[in-house]
Amino acid sequence: MLADKDRIFTNLYGYQPWNVDAAIMRGDWDNTKDLMARGQDAIIDVIKASGLRGRGGAGFPTGMKWSFMPKEPKPDRPSFLVINADESEPGSCKDREIIRHDPHKLIEGALIAGYAMRARAAYIYIRGEYIREAETLFAAVAEAYDRGFVGKNACGSGYDFDVFVHRGAGAYICGEETAMLESLEGKKGQPRLKPPFPAGAGLYGCPTTVNNVESIAVAPTILRRGAEWFSSFGRENNKGTKLFQISGHVDRPCVVEEAMSISFRELIEKHCGGIRGGWDNLLAVIPGGSSVPLVPAREIIDGPMDFDGLKAVGSGLGTAAVIVMDKSTDIVRAISRLSYFYKHESCGQCTPCREGTGWMWRVMERLRTGDADVSEIDTLHQVTKQVEGHTICALGDAAAWPIQGLIRHFRPELERRIRERGGDLAPMMEAAE
Ligand code: NAD
Ligand code: SF4
Repeated sequence: MLADKDRIFTNLYGYQPWNVDAAIMRGDWDNTKDLMARGQDAIIDVIKASGLRGRGGAGFPTGMKWSFMPKEPKPDRPSFLVINADESEPGSCKDREIIRHDPHKLIEGALIAGYAMRARAAYIYIRGEYIREAETLFAAVAEAYDRGFVGKNACGSGYDFDVFVHRGAGAYICGEETAMLESLEGKKGQPRLKPPFPAGAGLYGCPTTVNNVESIAVAPTILRRGAEWFSSFGRENNKGTKLFQISGHVDRPCVVEEAMSISFRELIEKHCGGIRGGWDNLLAVIPGGSSVPLVPAREIIDGPMDFDGLKAVGSGLGTAAVIVMDKSTDIVRAISRLSYFYKHESCGQCTPCREGTGWMWRVMERLRTGDADVSEIDTLHQVTKQVEGHTICALGDAAAWPIQGLIRHFRPELERRIRERGGDLAPMMEAAE
């Protein structure tokens, strides 16, 4: 279990105020100028050496992403940092806690990351529904300006750096990085084709890096405590500490910072008081937010909670939003509800997603009630394969994967419903023969 002294987010539960004075007492904004004086390339090297991988879900190496930015931005083509605080993935609520209780970690991180990638400004795009959090963030940014931490000659470093907060309007798809750029530019939030990646052509066509809130907020501590310290947690390719958000059928749902690669059992026992009704009552887990496939209990209990460990069981770490489902869960209904979510949130730009998400949801609903034919399970699976990998952005994959996981692990349950409803006579006829 991660020791208290190794926690980056020391005010995660808001026991102390979020304001700048309290943040300074906790060690934020401590000689930030000296951190910057190490130089842009040196900062990027530390982040690379720390093994930090993007905390927004995809796990792309953060230092490498920063290094894609131009070393000599042109005056008429400035570089930008965009911070993705459009946290909308069902199950995810970690960035919310950072912004609520530790916003100065994010703002200091924005300055350091922005400086390292030679950005002119940071735009923090915050989810529209996060109303109180946005208020806190606006106030914290104003404090940082008042103290001279950001703005002209930020922290006395000689570097000018602005921070803007932009509120979303409630569209899940604006969390996709290129849809976010479109939205920031005042357009309809629809994903762009990649490549070009944002580092080549991002906000207003300028070089841009889009990073998740947690990825940016941990950067100052990594620089202060060192890459070796951060990479001492977890295992090869899965380094550092991580915010896990555990919801569902545990005794005490929570958001907690833990060492990467902690086992599922330890995570739940130590921080959540165990599974509701005991371990034998665990049915399945969605370990990384709704975009990753569910994993049946037996395959996850003693496995490591990290990128590679969860990939090995056919799922993913995603945002580390761990949704725990016990045996009282109607698993088909749960996945059908997620299908509805993706249908509702599809931006409609590409046909496989626009048509496929609605189609998949309608079949899922019939499978839920058993009002289907067994052969439709395979048809549904084929459709998920037609959607997966054939769309502009990852929403298509995200809509397909939970259904694939359901079919892979709970096919007998789907068939049982159909048979009990009398929707498919083939097995009975076979038995009669
Ligand atoms: P992605 O793998 O396409 O990209 C990840 C990042 O790496 C992006 O910033 C991208 O620009 C960069 N990148 C990838 N390849 C690159 C290359 N060759 N050159 C330069 N940059 C490159 O994934 P994504 O679509 O950004 O994110 C998908 C993930 O988002 C899912 O795994 C899901 O878990 C997560 N997600 C999170 C939320 C949330 O609320 N936090 C919501 C929905 C989805
Ligand atoms: Fe829009 Fe869906 Fe296509 Fe993404 S996959 S661009 S959400 S239609």
